[in-house]
Amino acid sequence: MFVTRLAPGFAKGGPLHTASMIPSDFYNDRKFCEHCQTYVSYLQSTEHSYCVQCGHPVRLFSETDWNAFNEALKERRPKGGRPPKDRNRESA
Ligand SMILES: [Zn+2]
Repeated sequence: MFVTRLAPGFAKGGPLHTASMIPSDFYNDRKFCEHCQTYVSYLQSTEHSYCVQCGHPVRLFSETDWNAFNEALKERRPKGGRPPKDRNRESA
C-alpha cells in the first residue's frame, strides 16, 4: 500500500491568510526621517525617537501620510459634530 501524503494542513487548500503577508508591523518599527526622506529604523528615547542613520528626530508618519491620515479622520467625522437638539421637540 502506497499512499502519498502531503504535509498536514497543506492539502486542505482554502485561502491562506494572504492579508497577513503584509508586514503590518512595518510602521511599528519604522518612523519617518525628514532628513533621510524615508522610513527608517529608529532609536526610542523617553520622549523622542531618533533616526539610526543620521540622528535626526523621526516622526510617526511622513508629512504626506500624516495629511492623508488627518483627511481620513475628517472624512469620518460628521459635520457639526453634535446631533441637533431640536429633535427632542417633535411633540411641541
Ligand atoms: Zn535620518
